[in-house]
Amino acid sequence: MNFKKQVSVIHFGLILIISSCTSKSNNSTQLASEFSFGIIADCQFSDYPANGTREYAMSDDKLEECVTHLNTMDLEYTIHVGDFIDRNYESFDVVVPIYNKLKMPKYHVLGNHDFVVPGDKRSNVYKKMGMPSRYYEFKIKDWRFVVLDGNDISFHASNEGSKDYQFAENYYKTNKINSPKWNGAVGESQKNWLISVLENATKNQEKVILFCHFPVFPENVHNLWNADELVEIIENYDCVKAYINGHNHEGNFGYKKGVHYLTMKGMVETKETAYGIITLTDKYIQIAGYGREGNKKLQIK
Ligand SMILES: [Zn+2]
Repeated sequence: MNFKKQVSVIHFGLILIISSCTSKSNNSTQLASEFSFGIIADCQFSDYPANGTREYAMSDDKLEECVTHLNTMDLEYTIHVGDFIDRNYESFDVVVPIYNKLKMPKYHVLGNHDFVVPGDKRSNVYKKMGMPSRYYEFKIKDWRFVVLDGNDISFHASNEGSKDYQFAENYYKTNKINSPKWNGAVGESQKNWLISVLENATKNQEKVILFCHFPVFPENVHNLWNADELVEIIENYDCVKAYINGHNHEGNFGYKKGVHYLTMKGMVETKETAYGIITLTDKYIQIAGYGREGNKKLQIK
């Protein structure tokens, strides 16, 4: 509305000034290029008693509360970065319907615990979670988001004795991997796919965020078996601004050559929840943390 200040004299002599309704004065308005998304790590639900500080059976309630909160926010999407369940295929039947209450696009990353299900169900896990494939990418405004599968070569995502399992055994041995057996690696064809995505993103002048369940930097016991190979690829492309993961429930952070490496704290850990909302601007990646997750403002280089 555009009417100027209006002065009206009311019958008992007071002058009432009605301010004009200029609607462009809201300083909290986001710029057109800015947007936010929700992020959750390691919900790790199962109907099992707590083990140490891992409160598996509380995660359905924590997720429900988180989803209710995220639904009140203006978010382009929400992503869960792996270990949606702790064990048992039936655990998905508890948490998938809760996650599906999100009123925005929702994404998943595969974690190692998502494969703690009977052998004949393993190949179906990504479908059960509603994922288009085990690794994929999507775009919002001038940002490209790449979802990696760090269980590509692993002991847990394949069945003992199978070709994939033998491949993992051979890979682990011949590459003299020090990282524990419960981590995994990104395989050759997925690496080539990642390179082609980053080539295209560079051509299209997009900024890129990678998601994976496993960290790659700083050096940590939770890192991908081939973390160094991933970091080398990442550092070849200026378009990559951040790598975001779960798996290490304590959370972590590192910065190297223009890339922020962010480990989100695990929701399953302790009785208190943990999740975040990430806002992307032209200059910053801002994390608003809830529960045990902290706030961060990371400058984009
Ligand atoms: Zn994990």
